[in-house]
Amino acid sequence: MAVRQKSHLFYQSHNRRPVLDQARGIYMWDVDGERYLDGSSGAMVCNIGHSNENVLQAMRRQMEKSTFGYRLHFETEPAELLASKVAALSPEGLDKVFFVSGGSEAVESAIKLARQYALASDQPKRWKVISRYPSYHGCTLGALALTGFTSLSKPFDPMMRVMPKIPAPTAYLDGLDPDIPETGYHYADMLEQCILEEGPESVLAFIVEPVGGASTGALVPPAGYMERIREICTRYNILLIHDEVMTGGGRTGRFFAGEHWGVSPDILVLSKGFSAGYVPLGAMIAHNDIVDAVMAGGGFLHGFTYAGNPLACAAGLAVIEQIEAQDLLKNAETVGAILKHRLTGLMARYPFIGDVRGIGLLLAFELVSDRNTMQPLPKELSAFDRLVDIAYSNGLIIYSRRTRGGLEGDHFLVCPPMITTAEQVEEIMIMLIRSLD
Ligand code: PMP
Repeated sequence: MAVRQKSHLFYQSHNRRPVLDQARGIYMWDVDGERYLDGSSGAMVCNIGHSNENVLQAMRRQMEKSTFGYRLHFETEPAELLASKVAALSPEGLDKVFFVSGGSEAVESAIKLARQYALASDQPKRWKVISRYPSYHGCTLGALALTGFTSLSKPFDPMMRVMPKIPAPTAYLDGLDPDIPETGYHYADMLEQCILEEGPESVLAFIVEPVGGASTGALVPPAGYMERIREICTRYNILLIHDEVMTGGGRTGRFFAGEHWGVSPDILVLSKGFSAGYVPLGAMIAHNDIVDAVMAGGGFLHGFTYAGNPLACAAGLAVIEQIEAQDLLKNAETVGAILKHRLTGLMARYPFIGDVRGIGLLLAFELVSDRNTMQPLPKELSAFDRLVDIAYSNGLIIYSRRTRGGLEGDHFLVCPPMITTAEQVEEIMIMLIRSLD
């Protein structure tokens, strides 16, 4: 494993990783020529695989024309084309697109748009945003204030903590049947309770990851949950924000995960799979009424320098074209079902796998000390880093998190690119079994 001896970079993790040389399709190579199967698509980013020639060509074409045009100085064709494409893919009524360069920026933009909307619609007392624990919405201070992930937020307290949070619908930990709507209503009604306790006239918005990502490990909401959440937000005139930073762009088998339940938010945010790792890009898409009110009230007081630059938008457009041309939503659905079936099969072999969950190619498994009680592994036995390191040494990249439903727990996301084939699922399984053994 080629690891640089001395580095001036510093990130979250102390673990040294191999030095990346090249990446093609679902594989990556380090500078020593070791090959890795990208079983987590970066951090659920590189959805269409690495170095897609059509995307590279589109980027080259755009680079030769112009790489940057400041959005307040120039309209650009790629930004216009991408915005209309995204609007066409978004739920009805959500036609206004605001580009950013990443997920935290998209969430930050959604909070600021919602706050300005409250003023523009003469509801200045509405400012609180409710979110869930655990959840991940980003690392900028606004997005972090909504993030229910104490180990990440605590060092920065006190901050503009927006609200006490409600639990994510962890039916698998609470012994509830996720397939009956009563379970979904049970968790969704906690939102209503929270709104009533806080005072509905002070609550501005509720933000939710339709399928939990890094925080809950591919947690799919129980039947009835998303629909009931929508009803409650509408009843109390509270804006519903879908954080589709990880789910948007097709990983769950639909371009937006909200489509699985036929619910539309008032604002939605996406990034990661939107540009699939080719460039930093994200977007906030908002309902026309919200944007019209804010623009009529003097304009949106917000924006990032690099947002909507033509190179990023040309890449984003080419990524969506590839998703459509290769029918990758369908592939995420069918290959995801095969991979989920194979992961579920591991439970017979390994008693310490407590749960396998997810949808499309957003899949995870969780390690526990006892499957009956779902007690997490004790800290000293935590496999959080160890399994990832072992998988690396077997040529497989997976993504781990030690958090779940307010408890500590080890879950691992297995989320290869949406171009993965059924044969490559078998390759993943061989490396995964070798690592778990
Ligand atoms: N929201 C969700 C659901 C995410 O998964 C992430 C990134 N993991 C973010 C927001 C923040 O995105 P970024 O790291 O691009 O700022």
